[in-house]
Amino acid sequence: MFITEGIPSFFVTINPADIYNPVLNVVAGADIDVDNLCPHDISYDRQTRLVANNPVVPAKFFNLWVKKFISEVLAYDPEHKDLEGGILGVCKGYYGCVECQGRGTLHQHMLVWVHGALSPNKMKERISKLKDENFCEKLKAFLDDTISTHVPPLPEQFEQDTPVPSSKHHPCAVRGPSLDLPTEEYERARQADLHYLVEKCQTHEHKKTCWKHCKAGQAKSCRFGLDPSNITPETIIDMETGEITLQHLEGMINNYCEVIMESVRCNVDIKPVLSGAVAKALSFYFTDYITKSPLKAHVAYAALETAVKKMGELDLKADDKMVLKRLLQKCANAMISQQELAGPEVASHLLGLEDHFTSHTFNNLYWTSFEHAIEKQDPSPECSTKS
Ligand SMILES: [Zn+2]
Repeated sequence: MFITEGIPSFFVTINPADIYNPVLNVVAGADIDVDNLCPHDISYDRQTRLVANNPVVPAKFFNLWVKKFISEVLAYDPEHKDLEGGILGVCKGYYGCVECQGRGTLHQHMLVWVHGALSPNKMKERISKLKDENFCEKLKAFLDDTISTHVPPLPEQFEQDTPVPSSKHHPCAVRGPSLDLPTEEYERARQADLHYLVEKCQTHEHKKTCWKHCKAGQAKSCRFGLDPSNITPETIIDMETGEITLQHLEGMINNYCEVIMESVRCNVDIKPVLSGAVAKALSFYFTDYITKSPLKAHVAYAALETAVKKMGELDLKADDKMVLKRLLQKCANAMISQQELAGPEVASHLLGLEDHFTSHTFNNLYWTSFEHAIEKQDPSPECSTKS
């Protein structure tokens, strides 16, 4: 896709809130109206048990949520007839891989390609070579409008209004304000709702994994770059170097897009791809993720079968053979049992649901035969086995 569509414009992460989202109950068969939830429809305890006891439900919910994000928020049109586009512009392609977090929740990392977007090199040219100030203003306005980095304040005169559902319940467990409210009150309610939503979902809490790249004796710094002191009051575009530094108003608030946040009602992350280095890092990350193959049970057993056969050929005493057999059995059990798979991941696979989401179709490339063919045509000293 990098070759046919160019460099993607955004890297988006969505962590659907399976233990809160009321739609999960609908997927589980509950007869509830998600737009008019009654207090007894909301139970964190009941929903957490449901998710833990039946991994099919969070797997189906996740699949539905990501598909709706693609069709309604990105508004990707497979026929490329829709010129209005979605929240990030007219989406011309996407590629997202499904990952499983430590506690077993599925989440999605996605690259998004937008029609008409300039590559980092072209942007740099417009900024530092052509000194196009009008372009810089527009780019800055677009970035600041798309990416937010602070908790919006509660609106003034908000006390007299009808309370928004997210002020009383977890913001991921309820819908946004009613569309039936008068325009001015609706705008205030929307801001209040976003305040609660961002505060709950986007405030970063350092965990052990934040420091995993820090060396002993060095000052600790969060690998996500989040720290109360990491503040950039406004987006800076350097006219000399073409470098773009995004504004970051609150150091512990993760990047988000307001409309995406209001639509998916869960923790999100959004990063624009503004430099060639970031594009390269993302391409490496996705290729590495797609091509890494976990140890398959049948491969492990095949290897052990060969070992057992070889053992039979050895001239050993019966007792020694028994000891070796037990050792091999233990190795086999350890190899299989050490693979950690979460319930929703297994359920998703058994249900035949997508392990990645993409707008494009791909052909398989059988690497070993491909490499052999190349080697035959053009032998290289590195690959040659002849001495
Ligand atoms: Zn951190």
